[in-house]
Amino acid sequence: MSTMKALVFSAPGRPTLEERPRPTIQAATDAIVQMVKSSICGTDLHILKGDVPSVRRDIILGHEGTGIIYALGANVTRFKLNDRVVISGITSCRSCDFCTRDIPSHCVDGGWLIGNTIDGTQAEYIRIPLADGSLYHMVEGASEEAQVLCSDVMPTAFECGVISGRVKPGGTVAIVGGGPVGLAIAIAAQLYSPLKLIMITRDPNRLEKAKELGATHCIPFGPNAIKQVMELTNGHGVDTVVEAAGVPGTFDLCQEIVAVGGTIANVGVHGCKVDLNLDKLWHRNIVIATSLVDTTSTRMLLQLMDSGKIKPDILFTHRFRFADVLDAYATFGDATKHNALKVVLEF
Ligand SMILES: [Zn+2]
Ligand SMILES: [Zn+2]
Repeated sequence: MSTMKALVFSAPGRPTLEERPRPTIQAATDAIVQMVKSSICGTDLHILKGDVPSVRRDIILGHEGTGIIYALGANVTRFKLNDRVVISGITSCRSCDFCTRDIPSHCVDGGWLIGNTIDGTQAEYIRIPLADGSLYHMVEGASEEAQVLCSDVMPTAFECGVISGRVKPGGTVAIVGGGPVGLAIAIAAQLYSPLKLIMITRDPNRLEKAKELGATHCIPFGPNAIKQVMELTNGHGVDTVVEAAGVPGTFDLCQEIVAVGGTIANVGVHGCKVDLNLDKLWHRNIVIATSLVDTTSTRMLLQLMDSGKIKPDILFTHRFRFADVLDAYATFGDATKHNALKVVLEF
C-alpha cells in the first residue's frame, strides 16, 4: 500500500508528522485530491488545545488548501482528473434540507468534516466526500495562495462577519481580534463601504497590518478601548461589532460598544462560556448572530479575486515545505513573537 506524510492530532498539545496510507475512493461521489498548498488555521490550534470535542484523536488536521484531482468516483460530474481545485472547508451534498436552505455547514452527510471528523488537508493526499458540492475550480487571475483563503478564511470573514454583522454603506464597524480572520473581515467589510472601520486588537503589528488593509482607526485592546470607541462614534457605539477572538474578554467588549440597533456577529471559536449582559442590552434593539461558515459565498469570492477586486494573499507571512510542518505549527502557535499571520504549507 502506498503511503504519504500527514500531520496528525495524536494528543492534545503538539501534533505529529506521520506516515499514513494514501486515501482511496470509498464512494462514487468521492474525489482524491493531491495537495499543492495547505494552511494552518486558528481552529487547528483550538483543536490541539482540546477546545473542539468533535475532533477524534488520530485525525489528520486541516480544512484549508488547494490541489489537483488525482482520482474520481464514478458519480462525480463537475470535475475531471488533473483539474486544479480549491477545497472547501465545508462539505455539501447540495440536496439535503440544510443544503437546500443554504446552510451546508449543517449538511446531514457533510458540514465541517475534513480536519474534524474525517482526515484533513495537512497531508499529501486527501479524500473529499461529496466532491461535486465540496470543491471549486481554481480561477486564473488570482494567486494560488489567495485561493487557499477561499477554503475557510474569506468565506468566514464575509459570511459570519460581514453578512451576519449586517455591515451597511455608511455604517460603523468594529472588529475585535486582529488574527487572520479578523484582518480578512477588514478586507471583506470594505466591499460595503463602511464609514468607519475600527480594528481592536492587542498586537501592535496586527494593528499596523489592519491600517495597511484599510482600517480607518486602530485601537489597542485594553482598558481604554471602550472610551476610545465611544469618542469615535459620538458616544453611540458601533453598528456592527464582530467578535473575532473567541475569549470572554473580547465578547464583553463587544457588548459594551454595540450601538442601539446594532449587531454583534460572533466569529470566534469559543472554548468556554461567556457572560451575556442581557440586563444592559435587552432594550437596545440589538441582534447577536452566531454562525459556522457555509461557504455559500466561495464562488463569488473567487470571482472577486479573479478580477483583482480583493487580494487577501497579503495575509500570508510565512511559507514552509510540508516536511517542516512542525516548524510551521511552532511559528503559527507563537504568532506574536514571529509576527505571523497566515502560514502556507507547500507540497
Ligand atoms: Zn480555517
Ligand atoms: Zn447536505
